[in-house]
Formats: sequence, C-alpha cells, structure tokens
Amino acid sequence: MLNLDDTYLSDEHRQFREQLNRFIAREVVPRAPEWETEGLLPRELYRQMGELGFLGLAIPAEFGGTELDARGTVVFGEEIGRSSFGGFAASISDHADMAAPVIVRAGTAAQKHRYLPGIASGQRVLGFAVTEPSGGSDLTRMKTTAVRQGDHWILNGQKTFITNALSADIFITIARTDSQAKGGNGFTIFIVEKGGKGFTTGKKFDKTGWCTSDMSELFFEDFAVPAENMLGEEGKGFYLLMQGLERERMSMCAQCVGMMERALTITLEYAKSRAAYGRTLWDLQAIRHELATYASELSASKLLLYHSAAKKDRGESVRLETSMMKAQIPQMLKRMADACVQIYGASGYMRGTEIERIFRDARPYSLGGGAAAVMLDEVAKLL
Ligand SMILES: Cc1cc2nc3c(=O)[nH]c(=O)nc-3n(C[C@H](O)[C@H](O)[C@H](O)COP(=O)(O)OP(=O)(O)OC[C@H]3O[C@@H](n4cnc5c(N)ncnc54)[C@H](O)[C@@H]3O)c2cc1C
Repeated sequence: MLNLDDTYLSDEHRQFREQLNRFIAREVVPRAPEWETEGLLPRELYRQMGELGFLGLAIPAEFGGTELDARGTVVFGEEIGRSSFGGFAASISDHADMAAPVIVRAGTAAQKHRYLPGIASGQRVLGFAVTEPSGGSDLTRMKTTAVRQGDHWILNGQKTFITNALSADIFITIARTDSQAKGGNGFTIFIVEKGGKGFTTGKKFDKTGWCTSDMSELFFEDFAVPAENMLGEEGKGFYLLMQGLERERMSMCAQCVGMMERALTITLEYAKSRAAYGRTLWDLQAIRHELATYASELSASKLLLYHSAAKKDRGESVRLETSMMKAQIPQMLKRMADACVQIYGASGYMRGTEIERIFRDARPYSLGGGAAAVMLDEVAKLL
C-alpha cells in the first residue's frame, strides 16, 4: 500500500500511529467481537485510551489533552478504521474528534476547565446529538426548541440515530432558540449532561453494522439546561457546527482509508493462498487486475486526504478537498468491500469473518456526516 508517512508526517505523528496501532492490536481487536454482541464499548476502554493520551488529540495540553493537528486527525482516523470495527471507530471518534472539538472551539474558559479534562482522560463519555426525525441532511428543519427561563434554557424535542446515546454522560446538542429566524439562523448549541427530570433515552437501536457502538434517541421534555451550558453565541449554533465540517469529513474519510487498507491487505493474502484451477485466485488476471485497480484508486484518495490535512495545517481552507473526499471515499469503500466479499466467496458472507464485518461497517460512512449526494452538491457549488 502507498506509504505517505515519510513525505507528510512528523516523528510525533509516526510515534502516535505506532502506539495507537499497537494498542488496538492488543486491547481492541481480540476483545471487540464480545463488544459486538453486547452492542456497546466498555467504559474501561475509554479510561485506558484516555490514560495513554489517545482521546485528547483535539484538546490543548492545559486541559489535559495531547493536541495534534489535522495530520494527527488523519493518523488517528486511519488507525481506528484499520481496526475494521466500524462501531469502535465511530464511538471513539464521536467522543474525541467530533464532539470534543466543539467545546475546544467555542467553550468559555469555565466550560473548558469543567469538561475537557474528563473527556481527555476518558472518565466522561461524549455524544454528538444533531439529527432529528425531521431529517439529518437538511438541518434547518430541526424542531427541538430551547426557550430561556431565568437562568435556564428549557429544551423540548427529540434527537435520533445518536451514536453513544446510551453510554455517553454528556452531549453536544443543538436546538432552535429563535422561532422567527430563517435558514441556518436562530439555532444554539448546548452542552447537556445526561439525567435529570425531562431527559430520557430510547431503546437501543438494532443496527446492521457498527455493532460495537450503541445508538438510540434522546427525548427532552421541559428539560432544564443551566444557562452557563450554552456553547458559543446564541443563534449562531448552525454556523458553529459548519466550522467543524472539514475536520469531521477528514476524520471519517481517514477511517474509510484505514478500513480499505485492511480490506485490501486481507483480501490479497486470501487471494494468494486460495487454491483454484491448480493455481491460486491471485493467478487469475481478472482478480489481480481488480485488486490492483482498487490499490491504485485507494492510493489516489489517500493522497487527497494527506494533501488536505497538510493544507489545513498551513491554515488554509480545505472545504473543496474535504467535500470531494467525503463524496468519493466512502463510496469507494462500499464498492471495495463488496468486491472483497466476492473474492472470498461464500466464506466472506459468514458472520464472524472480518471481511463480512467490513462489508457491513462500510455502509454508514456515506450516510452520516454528509450523505454522498449532499457532498456532490457541495462540490458542485464550489466548482
Ligand atoms: C450508523 C449511524 C450513526 C449515526 N450517528 C449519529 C450521531 O452520533 N449523531 C447524529 O446527530 N446523527 C447521527 N447519525 C445520523 C446521520 O447524521 C444522518 O443519517 C444523516 O445526516 C442523513 O440524515 P437522514 O438519515 O435523516 O437522511 P435524509 O436527510 O432524510 O436523507 C436521505 C437520503 O436522501 C438523499 N439526499 C439528501 N439530501 C439530498 C440532496 N440534497 N440531493 C440528493 N439527495 C439527497 C441522500 O441519499 C440521503 O441519504 C448516524 C447515522 C448512522 C447511519
């Protein structure tokens, strides 16, 4: 597989990759099948990862983090994706690389001191609750409301398809605070602590894939959130979310790249060892060409990912690059996972095999964080 580490990464990035890769091989891969059955990551895992500094990559050192740049996000995403347990990758990145950065970006000093150390250490688990039954692509249709009453905001509404809904202690969520405002105006972000009167979660959703991560709904019924938990400016929450999109897309695409590299590695091994017609599958040109094509396409996508991260680290906008990536890379993962199952034959369709899990866990990346069609619209706008 194309190795871009020497060209794009520093010693610190490479060391981070090596440590995380070793940790995942030792602590995650052997135990994750059990977590798949339970439908949930153990709390202990967050604490272990926190202790080793893996959860603080978005958090400055003064709040207990190990802050890394955009290339650090790429390395983190690739390694959790390479685990091939999409649910593990989703829960951990939601916590560390999607929800936490919103507090880092917009939190007051008091909010950062209160929440970030516990998030970096893995003592407290975070969820990112945006989607509502009214739709996740067109967020301006959100119906959850927050009305100011004295020193509280009163929330009413419902969030759905929320990763970590049952395991998280804290949610970053968004509600309409101005019923008259149009478009993306009039939404505000809140830090919501789980529990208390008026806050409930639904039943655990039974997903097709990403089985190591839990998912459910959140219900707010006259749920009082302290005024000091408003995050960022009142009415500007939608734009605050938009500011995180480049990082979010980079993180999800890096997970896809890690998962594709793993899929290709194991399928190459399989094709080279599977006997057929007195030779191996690898000796069949059609199979060799298919895998060579995917290896080439994957390398081109990886180059775009690393280029975007390096550009972002120079302080430049990567809206076009990250939209292109998010439109293309998750789609390629789906196609490649399907092709790999085909090469495995029936054994690749059996529960418990790695390639079967990759096939299932590939699917959500082109739904969440900007559906493929929405991303193409975004690219078209920028052309
Ligand atoms: C496994 C998983 C985990 C998730 N975790 C979270 C989470 O932690 N927090 C959270 O807030 N949400 C989460 N989501 C929800 C996710 O963000 C939404 O599913 C996503 O935003 C799409 O919203 P929707 O499902 O309501 O689909 P809709 O918005 O109804 O769209 C349905 C389909 O219509 C098509 N479409 C939409 N817009 C356009 C367009 N402009 N042009 C052409 N076609 C279009 C797309 O194909 C799209 O998939 C998760 C979803 C999944 C599957």
